[in-house]
Amino acid sequence: LTNRLSKALKNITGKGKLTEANMNEMLREVRMSLLEADVNYRVVKDFIEHVKIKAMGVEVMSSLNPGQMVVKIVHDEIVELLGTQEQGLNYKTAGITTVMMVGLQGTGKTTAAAKIANVIRKKQSRKPLLVACDLIRPAAVEQLKTLGASIDVEVFSLGIETPALTTAKKALEYAQEQGYDTVIFDTAGRLHIDEELMQELADIKAAVHPDDILLTVDAMTGQDIVNVAQSFHDQLAVTGLVLTKLDGDARGGGVLSVRAITQVPVKFVGLGEKIDDLDIFYPERMADRILGMGDIMTLVEQAQDKMDMEVSQKSAKRMMSGQFTLEDMLEQFRQLKKMGSLGGMMKLIPGMSQMAGKIDEAKTDKQMKMFEAIILSMTKEERQNPDILKASRKNRIAAGSGTKVSDINQLINRYEKTKVAMKQMGAMANGGKMPNMKG
Ligand code: GDP
Ligand code: MG
Repeated sequence: LTNRLSKALKNITGKGKLTEANMNEMLREVRMSLLEADVNYRVVKDFIEHVKIKAMGVEVMSSLNPGQMVVKIVHDEIVELLGTQEQGLNYKTAGITTVMMVGLQGTGKTTAAAKIANVIRKKQSRKPLLVACDLIRPAAVEQLKTLGASIDVEVFSLGIETPALTTAKKALEYAQEQGYDTVIFDTAGRLHIDEELMQELADIKAAVHPDDILLTVDAMTGQDIVNVAQSFHDQLAVTGLVLTKLDGDARGGGVLSVRAITQVPVKFVGLGEKIDDLDIFYPERMADRILGMGDIMTLVEQAQDKMDMEVSQKSAKRMMSGQFTLEDMLEQFRQLKKMGSLGGMMKLIPGMSQMAGKIDEAKTDKQMKMFEAIILSMTKEERQNPDILKASRKNRIAAGSGTKVSDINQLINRYEKTKVAMKQMGAMANGGKMPNMKG
C-alpha cells in the first residue's frame, strides 16, 4: 500500500452506509494514486464518478471502515475495467491467420512479434511466418531477422527498397505456397502519430485483412497515450493489446486508459527483452499494481474473513433465539478449526488457561472431523430438522460418512445439549426474559 493510502485507511472511521462524506477522502486518495500511476486524468475522472455512483449507499460491512470498503470496490472495478484474463489470437478456422503489430516506435512491436511467433510455434504447434514491413527504422529488418533466427522462425523481407505494402502482399502469397498457417506483420512506428504512417498501416490492413491487429502499449507510457490509442483505434480498429515492459518500475496505469478507449482485451504481456519474457495478462495483479497496493489482496482477504465473522455473528443471534440447526453446528466446527486449536484458544481466555491443559487435543480434533463428515452426509432437510433422523436415515448417513450409528447418536446428543445451552445464553442476554416471551 502506498503510504498515503494506508494513512487514509486508518483515518477514516465510521459505520453504516457509504455516503458522499465518508467516501470523499478515500476517493481523493484513489484519484491521486491513479494519476501517479499515469492513468489519464479524464479516465480517472470518469472512473471516480462511476465508483461513486456504484458505492453510494452500499452498506459498510460492520467490521470494515468506509475507507476499506471503498478500496475494495475500487479494486473490483479496476479489475472489471481491465477485462478478463484472455485469450490468444483470433485464429481462422481455415486458411492463413494474419496478425498485424501496430504502435509507436520503441514500444516493442518487433520484440513482441517474435515472442508471439515463438510461443505459438512451441505451445500451439502453429507454423508462423514473420514479415518485415518496417522499412523506416534503421536496421529494423536486421533486428527481426536476428530474432527470427534465434527462434527458428522464417522472416520474410524484400529489402528496404520495396514498399511495405508490396512486401505484405508478397508475404501472403509466399505463406500460401510454403504452407504457413499464421503470418505476423511487423510494421513501422513513429515517435508521434502521423498521417503517412496511418495511411501505410491502413493500406496493409486492407491488403491482408488481419484477424488480429495488436496495439503495443508501453507500460512506461504517460498521459498522452489516450490520443495515440484513440488514433490507432479510430483508423485501424485494433482487436487486442500487448502490454510491454511490465518488468520495469512503472505502475502501468496507461493500460487502463487504453482499455477505456478501445475496450479490446490485453492479449499478451511483455516482461523483458528476452524471447521468453511473454505472459498472459492477470487483471487482478495489474489492478494491485496500478493502485500501488502490493498488499491489497491481504486486505481483501481480511475483509473476506471479517465477512465470514459477520455471518457467524448473525447465526449466533439466531441460535440464541432457539433456532439452532445442524448446519449452524457445522459452521461452528469450521470456525473453530479456522481459529486454531481449542486448547490454544482457551489459554487466551482469563481463568480458562488451567483447563486448557486438560483437553485432549488429538481426540477433540478427531471427533470434530467425524461430526463434520456425518453432517456433510445429511440432506439439507435433515440438517435443518434433525428430528426426522430415524433408523433408516441414520444407517444411510453412517454408510455415507464411514461412521457408526452410535457416532451419529453421539452427535445428536451433543447437538441437543448445545441447542439448550444456546437458548439459555440467549435468555440471559435478553435480561432473563425468554426470547419468545418478548412482547
Ligand atoms: P518497436 O520499435 O515497437 O519495434 O520496439 P522494439 O521491439 O524494437 O523494442 C524497443 C526496445 O524495447 C528494445 O530495446 C527492446 O529490447 C525493448 N523491449 C521490448 N519489449 C520489452 C519488454 O517487455 N521489457 C523490456 N524491458 N524491454 C523491452
Ligand atoms: Mg520495430
